[in-house]
Amino acid sequence: MTTGGEQHDDPKARQALLEALRWQLDIGADEALEDEPQDHYAVSQAQLQQKVTKANLAAAAQPRATPPQAPASAGAAQPLPSPQGGSGEALFEPKVSNLRSIEATLSEARQLAAGAKDLAALRAAVESFEGCALKKTAMNCVFADGAAGAPLMILGEAPGANEDRQGKPFVGDAGKLLDRMLAAIGRSRDDSYISNVLFWRPPGNRTPSAEEVALCLPFVEKHIALAAPKALLLVGGSAAAALLDQGKGVMKLRGKWFAYSNGHLKAPIPALVTLHPAYLLRQPSQKRLAWRDLLDLKSVLESGRDPLA
Ligand code: URA
Repeated sequence: MTTGGEQHDDPKARQALLEALRWQLDIGADEALEDEPQDHYAVSQAQLQQKVTKANLAAAAQPRATPPQAPASAGAAQPLPSPQGGSGEALFEPKVSNLRSIEATLSEARQLAAGAKDLAALRAAVESFEGCALKKTAMNCVFADGAAGAPLMILGEAPGANEDRQGKPFVGDAGKLLDRMLAAIGRSRDDSYISNVLFWRPPGNRTPSAEEVALCLPFVEKHIALAAPKALLLVGGSAAAALLDQGKGVMKLRGKWFAYSNGHLKAPIPALVTLHPAYLLRQPSQKRLAWRDLLDLKSVLESGRDPLA
């Protein structure tokens, strides 16, 4: 047995390690992701400070006095040659090279998504995409569940531990509540199509960074176009923020319909925002708000009424 590269031939040391492992299992540890501990909060803070906005991507793509070489492959961060080679530049360069590599990775994601002619091809394209770092720590790609082509498409935030294990969205406690919410309006996974705005589990279920969302977005946009639902239900603030760009929290957006549009769609799709079932599990008193939203959704789906009119 080794820990941190150390060999433990001493039976007492082995026994102590086994007991430490048993203790971890007893207190509920059920996964070991990496050999070295990672401070994922620090990583996501660093990523958030480098938000992917149209403005800074455009700035990064500006031609410079010493043009950097294009990255050899999307997703592989290429260090930029420092024009002056000074230490001040060195501090700044990694940020620019990151942004440049994000731009290249985004363009790869857009191309892969655009080339997918049906849902099976899109799933294969997502599975082949190496540009989102979440793929490295996730067990599975979580693409979709339910009935492709259903009139309702539900989009959540990101897979959690159960979803990651099973490769299916919304199969944990929040998923069970989502099933009950659907049942309450006479629907199920047989007539709904379910996915997320991220296809891989963020380690430790941390909030996805802006970069991770941006890199999955081209696939999500194509996903919506290929699934072609009559209505979208965006559960939670992350899905709403990724797709609607309203700059408001979920409490301000919920219960409202938006005309969702993207470059693959011929006409906008009505999108309703509601509260995430994981939030409702923590705040059951808010279920009455979600219930109101669901009744409105039911009436739109069953009457054919245009909620945008
Ligand atoms: N929460 C989500 O947003 N999506 C899932 O698939 C599971 C939990």
